[in-house]
Amino acid sequence: MKTNENVLINGIKTNNVILNHDDIGDNHMLTGMDTPMKSTAFLISDEEKRERIAFHFTEIMDTLGLDLNDDSLKGTPERVAKMYIEEIFSGLDPKNKPEIALFENKYQYEQMLVEKNISFYSNCEHHFVPIIGKAHIAYISSGKVIGLSKLNRVVQYFAKRPQVQERLTNQIARELQKVLKTEDVAVIIDAKHLCVSSRGIKDDTSTTVTAYYGGVFNTHEKIVELQNFINN
Ligand SMILES: [Zn+2]
Repeated sequence: MKTNENVLINGIKTNNVILNHDDIGDNHMLTGMDTPMKSTAFLISDEEKRERIAFHFTEIMDTLGLDLNDDSLKGTPERVAKMYIEEIFSGLDPKNKPEIALFENKYQYEQMLVEKNISFYSNCEHHFVPIIGKAHIAYISSGKVIGLSKLNRVVQYFAKRPQVQERLTNQIARELQKVLKTEDVAVIIDAKHLCVSSRGIKDDTSTTVTAYYGGVFNTHEKIVELQNFINN
């Protein structure tokens, strides 16, 4: 199967250019389709992670010159740590992956099903500021169907990681292909990156669109049909 993954990764490799960290970050390049995790990622408990993040966030705030004794700031390191572990980066931990039950396709509906405008919040892994967007998902049943809210949950799970948009798109698509036991899955994401709008180039109007067309979706006819569903 030819995916965007090959094009992108080969794109970086075949260019044969040595990129420094700033180039990689500001150009929002990614190095692979799996979230780069250490093999030891889950050897420490969530509680210990919270403690360590709070400790280091205190250091950051202190270094910035903020007075951690101020009532308004005092609780911030612990709040940020809790938010990282329990909310905005909870999708790093496979134990938080949504359980997905499939149902028989009783209605014998054999056309594409599209769930559009799934809102999500993620965070750019290069700047740790929000990515705010909408995902559109389509699939054609291979005999089983999935609860609509589960499509949403899969999006939220992968969004709750430090991300790049191309990877988020592919991770959602690959997970749905696995769960639904079909290649016929499409994912389109349209998102605004706050690292582009609030800093750097400061472009507040642009959005970034990425797409994954798997199986039969990777044909001109199906792409047009899908675009019609999404735009109407
Ligand atoms: Zn960024």
